[in-house]
Amino acid sequence: MNLPDPFAPIAPSIDRALQDVFGFEAFRAGQRRGIEAVVQNNNTLIVMPTGSGKSLCYMLPACVMPGLTLAVSPLIALMKDQADALESFNIPATYINSSLSWDEQRQRLAGMRAGAYKIVLVAPERFKSQVFLDALAGLPIGLFAIDEAHCISQWGHDFRPDYLTLGEVRKQLGSPTTLALTATATPEVQRDIAAQLGFESPRVVVSGFERPNLFFEVYPARSRRAKYERIEALLDQTPEGSKVIYCATRKQVEEVGRNLRESGYYPALYHAGLSDQERDEVQDAFMAGDAPLLIATNAFGMGVDKSDVRAIIHFNIPGSVEAYYQEAGRAGRDGESAHCLLLFNRADLRIHEFFTENSFPDRKQIERLWSLLQKHGEGTHALDADMLADHLSRAGDDRVHPWAVGSALRLLERGGHVAFGQRGPTPWLQVMDRARTRELRVDWHALDARRRVDEDHQEDMVRYATGHTCRQLYLVRYFSDTAEDIPRCGRCDRCCGPPSYARDAGQVRAPIVVSEAAQTVLRKVLSGIARTRGRWGTHVVAAMLRGSRAKKVVGAGLDQLSTHGILSALRQDDLVRLIDVCAQLGLTTQNTHGCVSLTEEGTALMIASEPLPAPVAEVLARHLTSVSASPRRSGAPSSHQAAARQNEPPLPAHLAAHLADSELGETYLRTFALAREGHDYQSIAEQRGLTPSSVLRHFLKLAEHGYPLPLQDHADGRLLPELREVASDWSSHDKLADLKERLSTPCDYDTLKLNLAIVLQERFEHLQPLDAS
Ligand code: ADP
Ligand code: ZN
Repeated sequence: MNLPDPFAPIAPSIDRALQDVFGFEAFRAGQRRGIEAVVQNNNTLIVMPTGSGKSLCYMLPACVMPGLTLAVSPLIALMKDQADALESFNIPATYINSSLSWDEQRQRLAGMRAGAYKIVLVAPERFKSQVFLDALAGLPIGLFAIDEAHCISQWGHDFRPDYLTLGEVRKQLGSPTTLALTATATPEVQRDIAAQLGFESPRVVVSGFERPNLFFEVYPARSRRAKYERIEALLDQTPEGSKVIYCATRKQVEEVGRNLRESGYYPALYHAGLSDQERDEVQDAFMAGDAPLLIATNAFGMGVDKSDVRAIIHFNIPGSVEAYYQEAGRAGRDGESAHCLLLFNRADLRIHEFFTENSFPDRKQIERLWSLLQKHGEGTHALDADMLADHLSRAGDDRVHPWAVGSALRLLERGGHVAFGQRGPTPWLQVMDRARTRELRVDWHALDARRRVDEDHQEDMVRYATGHTCRQLYLVRYFSDTAEDIPRCGRCDRCCGPPSYARDAGQVRAPIVVSEAAQTVLRKVLSGIARTRGRWGTHVVAAMLRGSRAKKVVGAGLDQLSTHGILSALRQDDLVRLIDVCAQLGLTTQNTHGCVSLTEEGTALMIASEPLPAPVAEVLARHLTSVSASPRRSGAPSSHQAAARQNEPPLPAHLAAHLADSELGETYLRTFALAREGHDYQSIAEQRGLTPSSVLRHFLKLAEHGYPLPLQDHADGRLLPELREVASDWSSHDKLADLKERLSTPCDYDTLKLNLAIVLQERFEHLQPLDAS
């Protein structure tokens, strides 16, 4: 008699499954490709960001393929949710993990053997259980799905040793069709996953990393104060939806919370120091929209899928691009625009250095710990990591953190040298053998490699923060080899400069005016950096370039350098800014102590005599206005303005004709002509060798005389209506300061002038535009 196959498919095709089982109308980007590959029994690797619908890529094949789907996931806490989700689609599924009672586990195993489930969710360590392996024996495994597959790779940012066994497990299961899923895997990690799992020629689907509705921005913040100003400006411009501020540590969460509360915000806090209950409460309030501003460590976010997050701010740089993308990517899930701001200060790198050092203690520390434990002798002891750390610190020359002791103990545990745990409130430690330090079963190479991987991840993240490319492009390329030809996003700060809220924060600085060619100034800065041999930070190098005789400069002998004072015409601030620009351009790097040195590119550029490459010149032009175009003649006094203006092209004919009967002089009309061509006031200033504030003065005059300027991009929704009231009878003879006094909306002068110009020209709106002829 033929019994029906309990593991038979529950849907005839992937399209039917999509609609009938899941009730979705269409596949999302990448899903169909991934799912088809799996259903056709290819070993497949799917890399798609969180929230893009990866789960469907194993759930759906599980429905249309014969046999049982074993799905591996590292997060026991989330298994129940996933099983619930499957149940909501009426897919017979369950999970088996250590959170269940023995009885419950046995029942589910029996159910699995009887064919009650199409999908069973387990954690990787489950395969160590003989009971589980016995229960699996002889069952038809249709699909082996591994979620968070990057955990299998030592090069990944979240390596988990338990995952390493999965390649072996797969073989034991008879090498069923296998699907590895992850939200974050660089091409290198992708190759490693495939190798670890024994895939011969896997199908790889990388999809969905572009987030066209997100505006990525990095703000190099010199100080805490600068960070808070920026945060407040962004928060004030983002009244709707939820916002999250991520901090690197719990202490930082609390501090940011305190500061923002003092500024009149009402943030909720989330970190690992809270009780489970408190954390659940905060998370619920956040999900419900009752805590729209949340300050959190990276403990927050696993499985959080709130659609209307409008801003994700990173108070500190995260340890990897993977982590950053994951966290920032929680913004704008609803497809509406959202902002991702990273506040970058090099000092924050120290936090990660600390994480890395203590997660991967060096060999010497581990060996010293082992010697210390040997003095305690074999047997069980009370474990006091603080005390051990103290001992080691006193015996050696560097301070050992209890955290490093914890990491070292875990490594010794893995080698079978110690066991530890907790009995009631008391932690205990058992020394298992008397191995000599040379005989320790610790994989020193792997340890070194892991430490380096961590460091590399941090460097990649710093490259994101300081790099010159489109932010979005950097992120997409990071995860995919094949994204060569995607265009710049056209909406990040690298593509279009600081966003509008930043203008309110007064952060857009006018270029520095110099009297030599910009490239000469840049090369002088670079030579100065080269001469200080990577031993000094930005401020000292700047002081040297300006010719300071400060104690630090003279004490270090920097006043003896040939570059001492070669840029004495510039102010300290300007030089600091230029050195920062060099970093931004990838011409310099800084170590974690902040010491600046040249990169290869920097050295090459310093030595070269050709004009600067276009991208460099472009960035530099935002910071430096050179008035060297026309040489000074016969020592006659020559203002920057005059020098630059001599080279200006003739005025367009229709304006030149207009000149005779205009009340305004030629200089105004030139500004007008450039503005009509679409140049911003800053670029006009640059081109004409004027200061931005003179150009804005021109704008006011022009507007007052009815010259229509394209200023709508500068319209400020709050300021403009108020100005229409307050400035109804303003004329350019009146003082701006008085006007500013009378406004209740805070603004800077540039914004004020631009909006005032809009108000002034509205007086002429019934007239024909001048250049319509
Ligand atoms: P990931 O695992 O990649 O983080 P999920 O699989 O949890 O993402 O999917 C996120 C959400 O999108 C879920 O609510 C899921 O039901 C939904 N979803 C997935 N695919 C589709 C689709 N094709 N159409 C509509 N909704 C989808
Ligand atoms: Zn961009």
